[in-house]
Amino acid sequence: MSRVEERLDAIYAIGGGPGANRVGYTAEEDEAHSLVAGWMREVGLEVEVDSDGNLIGRLVGEEPELPEVWSGSHLDSVPQGGRFDGPLGVVGALEAAERLGRRRRTLGVVAFREEERGCVGSQARVRGGGLPSAWIELHHEQGPRLALLGAPLAVVTSIVGYVRGERVVDGRAGHAGTTPMDARDDALVSAAEEVIRIRDIARSIDGAVATVGSLTVEPGGINVIPGRVRFTIDARAPDAERLERLIRELGLDGSRAVAPTPLGGATADALRAVFEVRGLPLVELASGAGHDAGVMGRAGVPSTMLFVRAQNGGVSHSPDEHTTPEDVALAVDVLTDALDRLAS
Ligand SMILES: [Zn+2]
Repeated sequence: MSRVEERLDAIYAIGGGPGANRVGYTAEEDEAHSLVAGWMREVGLEVEVDSDGNLIGRLVGEEPELPEVWSGSHLDSVPQGGRFDGPLGVVGALEAAERLGRRRRTLGVVAFREEERGCVGSQARVRGGGLPSAWIELHHEQGPRLALLGAPLAVVTSIVGYVRGERVVDGRAGHAGTTPMDARDDALVSAAEEVIRIRDIARSIDGAVATVGSLTVEPGGINVIPGRVRFTIDARAPDAERLERLIRELGLDGSRAVAPTPLGGATADALRAVFEVRGLPLVELASGAGHDAGVMGRAGVPSTMLFVRAQNGGVSHSPDEHTTPEDVALAVDVLTDALDRLAS
C-alpha cells in the first residue's frame, strides 16, 4: 500500500465507523489535525496553527520572501462521510512536498477547518490575511462525470453559482371521496407539473441543475385534496450567463443569487501543462459543490482544483465514496508536477 493510501486509512480510522466521523471543531477533527501536523514535522515542514485552528505546514523555499504556493483541503467530514473528501487533498499535498523537497518558493500544505458547514476555516483565514499567490486543491469529484467520460482527472474552472427560492401553488382543498376528478383543483397535481417543468428548464441549459428537495402539502390529510403546496428550489449553473438564464426561466429572485466563482489563472495553466506533458485527456469541469478553493478564488488568490474520478456512481458524503489506488496515484503525480512548476 502506498504512503498516501496508508495516511488516508489512518485519518479514516479516527472516530470509528461506519464511515468518516470528524465533524468540524470536534475532538475527532482535532485528532486528524494533530496526526497530520506530526507527519508534517517528520517531513521537515514548519508547522503553523493559526488562531482559527487551520494547519499550515511550510517547506520553506530558497527565496522565502517570494509569495507562497499552497495546496491542501480539509480534514473535517460530514457524519458517516467518505474516505477521500478532504483528506485526499491534504495528504496529496503533503506527499507532493515530500517528493519535491526545497524549491525556490515556499510550499504550504494546508488543512482548513470545518469546510463542510460553510468553509468556516478558509473564510476566517481569508479575513485574517497572509494568503499565498496560488492555491491548488486536489479533491474527489463527488459526481459521476469523469467516470462517464472515461477520464481520470479534470481541471476545475469554476465553482457553480446558485440561487434558492420557494414557491407556493394554490388549489382548492376538498373531500377525497365526494369530489369528482373533473371538479378538482388539486394543488399537488399542479405542483407536480411545475416540478417537471423545473427539471426540463435545467436540462435545457448545459451544465445547469435544479432540484426540488423539500415539499409541504396542506392540509396534509389522507382523505383531503391538497389545497396548497409549498416547495423549495435549488438551482445552480457554472457561469454568470447560464445562471442568469436559469433564474429568468425559473422565475426566481436573482437578487438572492450567489455568483459563480471563476477559477483558473496560473494554477489552472500549470495543471493543463502537466496534462499535456503526460498525454492525459484535458477535461475541464465546474464544481457543483462549494469548496475552500472557491473562498480562496473569491479572495483574489489564483486558485484551481484537480478532480479525481469517483467510483460507485460518484457517490460522496457516504462510506461508499471511492477512488481507485491507480487514480489516486496519478492524481498525486499530476499535483506534484503542477506544484513543481508553480514553486520553481
Ligand atoms: Zn471536500
